[in-house]
Amino acid sequence: MPVDIASDVPGNQTLLTREARHGPGLWQADVAFVRGEGVRLWDADGREYLDCMAGIAVASLGHAHPRLTAALTAQAQRLIVCPQNLCNDVRVAFLEALVARMPVGLGRVFLCNSGAEANEAALKWARVATGRRRVVAATRGFAGRTIGALSLTWEPAYRAPFEPLPYPVDFVPFNDQAALEAAVDDETAVVWLEPIQGEGGVHVADPGYLRHARDVADQHGAVLAIDEIQTGVARTGRFLALEHAGVVPDMVTLAKGLAGGVPIGALVMTEEVAAAMPKGGHGTTFGGNPLAAAAGLAVLEEIEASGLIEHAERMGARLRAGLEGLVGRRVRGVRGLGLMLGLVFDEPVAPIVEALREAGLLVVNAGSHVVRFVPPLVIGPADVDEVIARVERALTDAS
Ligand SMILES: *Cc1c(COP(=O)(O)O)cnc(C)c1O
Repeated sequence: MPVDIASDVPGNQTLLTREARHGPGLWQADVAFVRGEGVRLWDADGREYLDCMAGIAVASLGHAHPRLTAALTAQAQRLIVCPQNLCNDVRVAFLEALVARMPVGLGRVFLCNSGAEANEAALKWARVATGRRRVVAATRGFAGRTIGALSLTWEPAYRAPFEPLPYPVDFVPFNDQAALEAAVDDETAVVWLEPIQGEGGVHVADPGYLRHARDVADQHGAVLAIDEIQTGVARTGRFLALEHAGVVPDMVTLAKGLAGGVPIGALVMTEEVAAAMPKGGHGTTFGGNPLAAAAGLAVLEEIEASGLIEHAERMGARLRAGLEGLVGRRVRGVRGLGLMLGLVFDEPVAPIVEALREAGLLVVNAGSHVVRFVPPLVIGPADVDEVIARVERALTDAS
């Protein structure tokens, strides 16, 4: 497909040098992306890539999706600013569409602007709903980088420079029912789990583990919070990954794919939890703004109109089968659900992620030994086959 990148867009090297000068110095990028369409991206030198990173499960409808761009354009022309203490028509429609997708009983939503913000909100609501502070969370878990969310994030490299962190958290081994039962007591405010640990290496929670967590939380009057920031919004072939287990928590947090790339976060909770917060006890300037609400509504409508939940399940099965065909000398296995898959290696994957990019495939690591595939939900069968072909080629060339 020919790409019309305006001639005044500088090339990769120029952009990288200029950005490196003023960025915070946290990353070492070596490519600049300037345009996207569907599951494809183009860099500043006009090279095409298949995007199986999608901003880490963010571009749920792919790039430049007609429904999403039309909704954003129309909303930008109509109204961008309307704070949450004032009512807005698009926000109302979005809230109704979102709650309609939630398990029965989860009918209250606090809208914010990122995953970490949604988790910060969850910590505050859990605190007032229980009158307790202690959290039980899982090793390898990830909840974000702000100070409160970082308390729930296990990775020592992320935590160490900032300790002591404000929340007392007991980390228990993931998928270990006995360890969870031993850690939760009558001082526990919240049991905190991801249905699939994304950053932690694409580890899937056993359905029985999540159901047991529900029981344990109930026995001790604790709140069960499920972080679906990466797994939610049709990613795993269900609207929420917790549907695989049939568990109904007290709180669910969403963010990444919810508005197709427009910054958003959502804490969805029960009436009982929501009611515990005093009037004015929490808030945020940009949360629930009409632009993000319009984007979120467009994503939910497109999921419905195009059957993207079933599509994600089918394409996930196809991608999984292809990746399983690569299991052998270097590849140890495949983990995950739907379109959230991890290809597990016997070696550190940083050089593999780079080799894949050179083969025209954008992916992201999940921990040190896993390559993560979280493509746009709209990925088609021919694209999936092309992804597998590119992985195969890169692994053959690199061995
Ligand atoms: C990405 C992520 C977060 C943090 O979201 P941000 O928008 O980066 O703050 C929290 N929890 C999980 C499971 C995530 O994948």
